[in-house]
Amino acid sequence: MSKNLTTRAEDYSKWYNELVVKADLAENSAVRGCMVIKPYGYAIWEKMQAELDRMFKESGHQNAYFPLFVPKSLFEAEEKNAEGFAKECAVVTHYRLQNDPDNEGKLRVDPEAKLEEELVVRPTSEAIIWNTYKGWIQSYRDLPILINQWANVVRWEMRTRLFLRTAEFLWQEGHTAHATEAEAIAEAEQMNDIYAEFAENFMAIPVIKGIKTESERFAGAVETYCIEALMQDGKALQAGTSHFLGQNFAKAFDVKFTNNEGKLDHVWATSWGVSTRLMGALIMTHSDDKGLVLPPNLAPSQVVIVPIYKNDEQLDLITEKANTIIKDLKALGVSCKFDSRTTHRPGAKFAQHELQGVPLRIAIGPKDLENGTVELARRDTLTKEVIAMSDLVATVKTLLETIQNELFSKALSYRDAHITEVNDFETFKTVLETKTGFISAHWDGTAETEQKIKELTKATIRCIPMDVKKEAGTCVFSGKSSEKRVLFAKAY
Ligand code: AMP
Repeated sequence: MSKNLTTRAEDYSKWYNELVVKADLAENSAVRGCMVIKPYGYAIWEKMQAELDRMFKESGHQNAYFPLFVPKSLFEAEEKNAEGFAKECAVVTHYRLQNDPDNEGKLRVDPEAKLEEELVVRPTSEAIIWNTYKGWIQSYRDLPILINQWANVVRWEMRTRLFLRTAEFLWQEGHTAHATEAEAIAEAEQMNDIYAEFAENFMAIPVIKGIKTESERFAGAVETYCIEALMQDGKALQAGTSHFLGQNFAKAFDVKFTNNEGKLDHVWATSWGVSTRLMGALIMTHSDDKGLVLPPNLAPSQVVIVPIYKNDEQLDLITEKANTIIKDLKALGVSCKFDSRTTHRPGAKFAQHELQGVPLRIAIGPKDLENGTVELARRDTLTKEVIAMSDLVATVKTLLETIQNELFSKALSYRDAHITEVNDFETFKTVLETKTGFISAHWDGTAETEQKIKELTKATIRCIPMDVKKEAGTCVFSGKSSEKRVLFAKAY
């Protein structure tokens, strides 16, 4: 089945779409812009969730849950946020259907069942949460509030792509409340750091931490921090965002507290989120023309054992051996599946596991049993070796760590080779057309220049890197003076 995958060079976008479907990760649904996440894809998402959840809790956060619907009056309380999301909101107007007398057998909205107040399906939850926090916060003793919610949100996106941009998506959204500005800024930065650590150490995706420009900032935020990754086609992907919201939501919802000097002040806020878009980032960073390549940390099964046999007697002997291997690997924290399906031939099983990115494959046949050997194959490098059965468990354990590290190094080399310093606009355009990737260039700091560059080249400012060095220069477009470089790229 993997034979039919379009190659990345032929058509990157087609390759991605085919891979998502053929590797059984997700598919389009009957609902416009909404996807069905299939069990194999969901298992990977659950691994991401588990690790992120662990990291959030370790840094002092707790999970809670807030309603899916936001009454319109609450939604519009913070004006900038409302304005930013208004164009992509799904709105509930009625609460009942009835038989349509003019169209027998069909249902229609009951005109009598119109909601008194329309409900917005949350595109993000600041409004409903800050309206709730109002009842929770009176004094500095009630702060900080460090809450995360795992949820679905709806943004009526016009152009959707499986995982990368869907109308409904799964995410986590953290919403914290603080007594001081400094504490809230530190929280927003800390969460962006946690996202970066997760992306690099767990997903093996190198990211650049930075700050968004005003025009790319989250609606209602004072500052948006982000992590930006580079995909294999040279396009950037915003992989996570963390916002310092200042006192905007506290003011909109009248959330005040008495500070330790007895004075009333508005509460300081942050919010931060990553979504199922991370699945897209994972696929587009590591996978190849044969299918998915998964870092061991995210593989639902890190190892698969495929038996090669001609009769039941051989299968029994191999099964016995496989069970011992699985037990020994489990003791080392390695997950291993025995693919004993009698309905598929070994070749078909190999192809499927390759397509689905199982990091290591062990094949055991009757000869191996005689010789005390196995064949061990790596998905990432597509290399095979025959090794002694006695070395297998230790070898697997170290190889998985090697694969995790090498996937990161490979992605990092690619990323670093695709950051080009550019000092004039002609070169800027040429690099975008030929090499793609990030362009590091001076910018005069104005939204007009940013907009013009976007119109002319489709490249946007992905971020102002956190570790940017001060350097006198001139804007690549306007020629005006600038004191630092920013990163431009075409983005998903
Ligand atoms: P935001 O609330 O806009 O800062 O977005 C939070 C996270 O969700 C970011 O990592 C975005 O990249 C991601 N995201 C935004 N819109 C979508 C979408 N339509 N589908 C999937 N992920 C999204």
